[in-house]
Amino acid sequence: MASKSKSRWADDEADAALEAQRKKEKEEKKRLKAEKARKLEAERKAREAAVAAAASTSQQAGDDPDRGPPTKRRRISPERDEPPQTSGATTTTDSSNLLRFEGGKFGRSRSVENYDKLNDIEEGAYGWVSRAKETATGKVVALKRLKMDPKDRSGVPVTGLREIQILKDCDHRNVVKLLEVVVGDDTNKVENIFLVLEFLEHDLKSILEDMPSPFLASEVKTLLHQLTSGLAYLHDHFILHRDLKTSNLLLNNRGRLKIADFGMARYVSDPPPANLTPLVVTLWYRAPELLLGETRYGPAIDMWSAGCVFGEMLTREPLLQGRNEVDQLTKIFELCGTPSDETWPNFRRLPNARRLKLPPRPTPSSVRAKFPLLTTAGASLLGSLLSLDPSRRPTAHEVLEHEYFQQDPRPKAEAMFPTFPSKAGQERRRRRETPEAPARGAQVSSGMDFGAVDFGGIFARREREERGGGFSLRMV
Ligand code: ADP
Repeated sequence: MASKSKSRWADDEADAALEAQRKKEKEEKKRLKAEKARKLEAERKAREAAVAAAASTSQQAGDDPDRGPPTKRRRISPERDEPPQTSGATTTTDSSNLLRFEGGKFGRSRSVENYDKLNDIEEGAYGWVSRAKETATGKVVALKRLKMDPKDRSGVPVTGLREIQILKDCDHRNVVKLLEVVVGDDTNKVENIFLVLEFLEHDLKSILEDMPSPFLASEVKTLLHQLTSGLAYLHDHFILHRDLKTSNLLLNNRGRLKIADFGMARYVSDPPPANLTPLVVTLWYRAPELLLGETRYGPAIDMWSAGCVFGEMLTREPLLQGRNEVDQLTKIFELCGTPSDETWPNFRRLPNARRLKLPPRPTPSSVRAKFPLLTTAGASLLGSLLSLDPSRRPTAHEVLEHEYFQQDPRPKAEAMFPTFPSKAGQERRRRRETPEAPARGAQVSSGMDFGAVDFGGIFARREREERGGGFSLRMV
C-alpha cells in the first residue's frame, strides 16, 4: 500500500511537473501567436497607409496642374531594347532584363466597375479607348485597355509597363495625365488592365481631316509651340516618345494640346545606348537614320516626327506617305535632298546605307518650294527639323527659342482657339488608314534590301517622267 501510495505521490509530482511544463509551453505558444498576429496587423496597416499615400499622390498628379515636375531620374529600363530573338533556341529569362519599379509607388488597383462606359472612341486590333464616367463623381475620363502582345500573351507586355511607368512619372501641361490604373473582374487576364486618362475632346488627326479650312498661321504656331514644350519636358527627363504623329496629339476645347500614347516610349541614358531597336515610329513619321538601321539614336528622332507634324498642320495631309521603307526613304530624299558626306557625315556607316546607290550629284532640299506660303523663318525651322543628319536638327529647347514664334502673326492665345465638334465625345470610329508603329519583335526591315535599291535610278526615272520637273513632282 505504502509503495502504492509512494508511487501515486511520485506519479502526481511527475504529472504536476509535466502539467506545468505543458502549461508553460502552451502559454509561450499563445504569446508567440499573439505577437505574430500583432506583427501581421501592423504590417497590414503600414501597407494600407502606403497604398492610400500612393493613391492620393496619383490623384494629385491628375488634378494639380501646377505641381512641379518629377525629379530627374536615373534610367531604370533595360539597356537592351531589341526584339527578342526567335531563332528557335530556348529562351531563358535573365533577371537583369526585367523592368524594375521603385518600391511603394503602386497601390492596389481599383476596379473598372467604378466607371460607366459612355462610348467607344477608338477600336484597334488589340486595344481600345473609350469615353467613360466615374460613377461616384461623374467625372468624364478616357479608358484605355492595355494592349496585348499578339505573339506573347503570357504577361503584361513591356510596352504596357513602360507606358504606365512613364505616364505615372510625367507631370506637364502638354503631356496627357494618367489618373489611375484599374482592373477588370478577372485580374489574371492581362487584357483586363485599363489606364484611366484625363479625357480630351479631339485628336489632331481627326481635326485636320475634318476642318473645312486650314489652321491659321497663328494657330499652327500655338500647336507647334505646345508640342515642342511637351517634347522639351520629355527629353529633359530622358524620355523618348518614339511614336509622335497627329493621332497621338490630343487637343481639348480650350486650345490645349497634349502628347499621348506612350506605348512606344522609353527612358534612355545620355548618351543613348548603342543597341536600341530602329523599328520604332509609324513609317510616315520615321526619321531617315531609323530607316537606315541606326541603333544609337536620341531625341532627334522625335524632332524629325515633330517636323512631319508641322508640315501636316500646314497642308492638312501627312507630309511623307511612303508605301514601304524604301519608298519612304525615296520620298524623304525627294523632299530633303539626297545625303552627301557634307550634309550628313558618316551616314554611310549605317547598316542599310552602305550599298545605297545615290545620284552622282547630291540633290538639294525642296522644303521651301513645297511650302511657298510659309515665312522664311517658318521654312528655315521646318527645314532644320527635317535635316537628314540628326545632329543638325534643333533640340526642343532650341525650337522654343526660334524666331518663328517671335514674328507676326504671334501664336494665338489658347483661350482664343476655335472649338470643333468632338468626335471622341459622340461617335464610334474605326480608323486605320495611317500605318501603325511597328510591333515589337517585327523584322527590322520588311524584307527590303536597301542595297539593291538604286535611288539614282529612281530619281532619274521620276525626273524623266516629270520632264525635268526636278524632285518637286509631288509638290503642289
Ligand atoms: P493606341 O495605342 O491603341 O493607338 P492611343 O493612346 O494612341 O491608343 O489612342 C488612340 C486614340 O484614342 C487616339 O488617337 C485618340 O483619338 C483617342 N484617345 C486616346 N487617349 C485619349 C484621351 N485621353 N482622351 C480622348 N481621346 C483619347
